[in-house]
Amino acid sequence: MSNPRTIAADGTVRELHYAETPRFIQIETNLACNAKCPFCPYAHMDRGPMLMEDWVWQKIVDDTRDLGVTYRPFLINEPLSEKRLPRIVDYIKRDTTAHVEINTNGGLLTEKRARALLDAGIDVVRFSIDGFSRETYEPARPGVDYDKVVEYTNQFIALRDAGGYGCHIEVRMIDMQENKHEQAAFLEYWRARADAAILVPLYQWPWSGQTAPALKPCLKILDEIFFYTDGTAPLCCWDDSGRGLVGDVTRQSVLEIWNGAEMQAMRQLLNRGRRDLITLCSRCDAYKDIRFVGFEEEPASAPQSGAAPDPAR
Ligand code: SF4
Repeated sequence: MSNPRTIAADGTVRELHYAETPRFIQIETNLACNAKCPFCPYAHMDRGPMLMEDWVWQKIVDDTRDLGVTYRPFLINEPLSEKRLPRIVDYIKRDTTAHVEINTNGGLLTEKRARALLDAGIDVVRFSIDGFSRETYEPARPGVDYDKVVEYTNQFIALRDAGGYGCHIEVRMIDMQENKHEQAAFLEYWRARADAAILVPLYQWPWSGQTAPALKPCLKILDEIFFYTDGTAPLCCWDDSGRGLVGDVTRQSVLEIWNGAEMQAMRQLLNRGRRDLITLCSRCDAYKDIRFVGFEEEPASAPQSGAAPDPAR
């Protein structure tokens, strides 16, 4: 949740502040990954195409120029598997109000690629390193070499420092039982090298074991919009299979989607906590521990079927 006005100092949410224009845009420019992480739906997805056409990602950027957007050129993929990434970053950064950031496993960040991304002007790189030893790391990130990731991350930091680039570098570890014993050492090591090192919670993807939704509003969609490789827009980045589509940027502008009837209908339902009436959200318990004050939690009117009516379709 990125809107700082929404969660009060006491941890409660009393108002939902939707941005007038999206502040964050996630673009899935390809559908490749070098890892098969057990907690990620990537290995089971059958969406396509494998590559977003150039004109589609360029249109998304052009539609939102000068709005101060932070672009995230990845979704359910590994951004460094995208050969066009330096060119995409360069294109976005022609807008002086724009920022670009990636979350990456770091396993493909060769020196050549690192230099290209820094030269293109990338603003933030977050390395996901879920262990502080090969034994702990590699079961969490099958397919990625731990020693290589550590080498590439340190190399990227050194290149950034030597070149005087302004890129912010963060290292994060998903907080899991399997790596608890290494967390203190991880934080000590990486805090001495990167700009930040943090632990993050493990998300439970919707439809991955939940039998009912948390009947609460949602903080995920207040200021973010998301695009698949074919240009369609899922409601949420946790939609791995198009259960909740709200638009198509090959036929609409980004702002038409942001302000469109499908998005408005979703917001109205979520504002009332009625996730049960949105197929995607009907098996999502995100933000279940957040205290929403002043939002009626309405009981579902019918038993949950798993195929709740979806106003976007
Ligand atoms: S409630 Fe819906 S929009 Fe919100 S995080 Fe869950 S799946 Fe995404």
